[in-house]
Amino acid sequence: MRGCIKIVLLLGYLASFHGLYAERITALGVGLPLFLYVGVFGVLAVALLLGAWIRPSPLRWMLALLFALSSVFIDAYTRITDSYMTYSAFVSMVYAGGFVQEALQQYHHAIALAMAKAGLLLLGVGLRPGPAPRLPGWLSIASPVLALALLVAILFIRAGEGARGLPVMYTPLAYLSLMGYEAVHDSVGPRQPVSLARPTAPLARDIVLVIDESIAGNYLDINTPAGVDSHLNRAQPGVDIINFGYAASVANCSADTNVTLRYGGTREDYLRINSTQPSIWQYAKAAGLGTVYIDGQRTGGHLQNLMTETEKRDIDQFIQFDDTPVVQRDMAAVARLVTLLADGKPQLIVINKVGAHFPVHDKYPDDFMTYRPALPRGRFTDVTDIGTRDGFDGRPQDWLLYRNSYRNSLQWNVGEFFRRLFAEGDLSQAVVIYTSDHGQDLHERGNPGLNTHCDSDPVAEEGLVPLLVIQGQGLKTLDWQTHLAHNRNASSHYNIFPTLLGLMGYDRAGVATVYGKALDQVTDDPFTFNVRFNARLGAKPDFRHIDLGQVVTPGPDQGVTAVR
Ligand SMILES: [Zn+2]
Repeated sequence: MRGCIKIVLLLGYLASFHGLYAERITALGVGLPLFLYVGVFGVLAVALLLGAWIRPSPLRWMLALLFALSSVFIDAYTRITDSYMTYSAFVSMVYAGGFVQEALQQYHHAIALAMAKAGLLLLGVGLRPGPAPRLPGWLSIASPVLALALLVAILFIRAGEGARGLPVMYTPLAYLSLMGYEAVHDSVGPRQPVSLARPTAPLARDIVLVIDESIAGNYLDINTPAGVDSHLNRAQPGVDIINFGYAASVANCSADTNVTLRYGGTREDYLRINSTQPSIWQYAKAAGLGTVYIDGQRTGGHLQNLMTETEKRDIDQFIQFDDTPVVQRDMAAVARLVTLLADGKPQLIVINKVGAHFPVHDKYPDDFMTYRPALPRGRFTDVTDIGTRDGFDGRPQDWLLYRNSYRNSLQWNVGEFFRRLFAEGDLSQAVVIYTSDHGQDLHERGNPGLNTHCDSDPVAEEGLVPLLVIQGQGLKTLDWQTHLAHNRNASSHYNIFPTLLGLMGYDRAGVATVYGKALDQVTDDPFTFNVRFNARLGAKPDFRHIDLGQVVTPGPDQGVTAVR
């Protein structure tokens, strides 16, 4: 009888994920892969049932708890993000605690549902089994372990892929095992101190890197006639604006790009460079600059974009805006930048703006609702990035509204940001490099889906970002002009770190050897972005070339046009 209850609970639990199984089966189609999938599924399911008949209670309840926690984790993730949890996403999430916290605050419903389902699993495994079927005791203990090992082996061979549609509670445990393996075998080693020579003093008093969020290169007036007014496409008194046009991002996910911008990873060697070489803060401090980080996205001291407490120790001023509404955070950032530019101290200032990440319903004030019709207002005022997709179905009409709200957000968080910077900031002793972490898929082609970036098979626009330099007129820094024609619409994020080091006075040849070309040199960039940044366990990064001839730009009305 007790055995029956356990079996009903466990089958009920497994059945509650039927949608995922159907998805995987449909994706596989009829053939050998489907046969293998069904086989592995069977092994994992049987191992679960056997595990529920472990005789020693403490051991059985331990397994029950482990499985239940694992289940809540992956199930809640799937509900909240409406996407499958890949190994890369898992690894990123383990580091990027900021998103987890926001999810906990906003998604009680999804988490409660996931917990309810995991309850079936907890009781199904944990409850005392009735009279034992005629099975050796060791088999029930070994089964779940061997099943997990099987899954780990599959994921290892397939570089993290292959758990889709399998009983979900194994997946996070398998991912965790892989991470443990990588931690032991990747020989990441201690972070190195600065060793590059620095023959000259920094070339400007303030060196500023503004990393915007989700700003599509093809939606700003600096790159396309019907683009949104950025205040960057006109002469501004006292400054030179050098527009490098379209640029390729490091990756199409925020954390991947950001960590690489802070550590200077190259296409060829980013895993090693990002984890063992000095940060931009270390280089700045060694060059005698103060270090300032302004994070408009997170609050309460929470770190994001793979920043660690160790890295943070090299930041003199760590600034977040805990009490500022999301819609005002970029304005708070520019106000703080204006103050820093006026304080007379030599500094490196890096800014993560709020920009225009999903959801964009409420990222601009009413006065800036120029593009209409726009998405309904008022539901996302406290959200910087992830947000529930409720009410946004990704139909063509929804995306039309989205693009209008997006452009309104650009008018505010980009246009107004720079209007204030030029009006109030003293840029006479400053060099500012401006870009965005990645571009956007705004579904101009009518392609289905709810995501704007971070896709594993993205459109080219996800890797297309703006890139420009602003500096005080009369400053003698780097020679931006000589190779501008060659580098315009042809450079990438990878050219930024060497540029920053050049501005700090580091030896140009030495910098180029380790980090590649700066923007004042002939960049000859491959113009690609990486869609498999967590290339590990033998996997190779997946660099996608951007063909500018295929890029879609917004038209003068609410529609969009493809330009050739
Ligand atoms: Zn981003």
